[in-house]
Amino acid sequence: MTKFREVSSEDRKNYGIILLIYIAAAVVSMFFLLPEYWYVVLAILIAGALLMTGLTTRDYGARCANCGNEFELSFTREVLAPHGGGRSGSWQYVKCPNCGKRTRALVVKKVTEDERVEGQ
Ligand SMILES: [Zn+2]
Repeated sequence: MTKFREVSSEDRKNYGIILLIYIAAAVVSMFFLLPEYWYVVLAILIAGALLMTGLTTRDYGARCANCGNEFELSFTREVLAPHGGGRSGSWQYVKCPNCGKRTRALVVKKVTEDERVEGQ
């Protein structure tokens, strides 16, 4: 079973770096390819957004604000669910598979195999 933990500042930093690389790649491609190759720029933007979402789906889950149940989200859920950030961390407005309530579920990080070994 997948285990989760709260998102650390290290996770935020790593995610920020990936986001920066994506934005930089987008800006550079726009600079060199627009306006003639706008479709290439569009493809890069979409591919990047899908990749970012794919990474989030793989590495993160959600913790229900009502019952505390932790669960994984599908790729489409990740794309479609409204999300935001607050002082207590990021949240996603999703339905909990345990209690069936829609809440602002706290975004939590999946515990990787490496971290499990380190923790023992
Ligand atoms: Zn719940």
